[in-house]
Amino acid sequence: MATKRDYYEILGVTRNATPEELKTVYRKLALKYHPDRNPGDKESEEKFKEAAEAYEVLHDPQKKAVYDQYGHQGLEGSGFSGFGGFEDIFSSFSDIFEDFFGFGGNRRSRSRTQRGSDLRYDMTLSFMEAAFGIEKEINLEKTETCPDCSGNGSEPGYGPETCRQCGGSGQLSRNQGFFTVRTTCHYCRGAGQTIPHPCKNCRGAGKVIINKKVSVKIPAGVDSGSRLRLTGEGESGAYGGPNGDLYVFLNVEAHEFFERHENDVYCKIPVSFVQAALGDTIPVPTLNGKKTVEIPKGTQPGDMIRLQGEGIPHLRHKRRGDQIVQITIKTPLNLTKKQENLLKEFAKLESNKFSNKLKNILQGASVGARPS
Ligand SMILES: [Zn+2]
Ligand SMILES: [Zn+2]
Repeated sequence: MATKRDYYEILGVTRNATPEELKTVYRKLALKYHPDRNPGDKESEEKFKEAAEAYEVLHDPQKKAVYDQYGHQGLEGSGFSGFGGFEDIFSSFSDIFEDFFGFGGNRRSRSRTQRGSDLRYDMTLSFMEAAFGIEKEINLEKTETCPDCSGNGSEPGYGPETCRQCGGSGQLSRNQGFFTVRTTCHYCRGAGQTIPHPCKNCRGAGKVIINKKVSVKIPAGVDSGSRLRLTGEGESGAYGGPNGDLYVFLNVEAHEFFERHENDVYCKIPVSFVQAALGDTIPVPTLNGKKTVEIPKGTQPGDMIRLQGEGIPHLRHKRRGDQIVQITIKTPLNLTKKQENLLKEFAKLESNKFSNKLKNILQGASVGARPS
């Protein structure tokens, strides 16, 4: 077993600290290392437990006297072994935690209403469904308040009874030497009540698992990573608390022809070099069907033509993005003899085979390569 730190050192106080001083420093530490503020942090968890144990001993005159005289071993000899877990700590110092957070440290307080858990559903949409929106029905398995007992867990005509083990406090005390050790009641699990005649439908849980069809309206313009919230469609609350929410996470599939960037849609259209040189009108697929688009004379590979308002609707306003058509140029293959002759004829007439810039570079390179 690791050696325990000195209780005075843990709280950072002297042996003469007053009860008020102890309370003040312990509150500071408990607040700093509280599990709700440091979720999943093992080190904080240890510090939180350590501080609780130190305070438990030092604020109790009898335990303090044993500790001052015999140290940790003295306490172990008299039956004190610290705390089992958070529940023990919260129930032992409920007055202190009440001051911090405005409610009791016992987090299973039965007078508090509980909001139902939120649910997550992952949905995949096609490119077009995301672009134009759609209504989809999903099948959810979730818990809901039992309709037979309205959530109280008892057969009709019966009700919950005060726990006979703990008398309704939810805590059990037992004496070990001159220490009182308080733990959560195992019989009622801290609820303070038991259900002697459990509801047959939910076996006393107050909740049942149901399958529910939920209709989800997907607005036009959603994208991968978009999230929809359906208020009240999550798990049902307990003790009259509100339902949780349902979050639908969206994933949008790629399209074989269109590529999406934000609200613009890109596509590549191949044309022949003759169409590019002379200009032409060509059919282009858009989200709304076929459109005729004019290719200007002298179009170069990679030139873009913007079709305004042919993209994807914005989520917040109804304006749409654009479609951007990128022109690629096909070099003709399998020419006939006649086509070949015509091209040769064309080549003879072509005066500007290379750009001026390229010509300059070629000339410069030949001069530079000649030995001087
Ligand atoms: Zn009990
Ligand atoms: Zn029931």
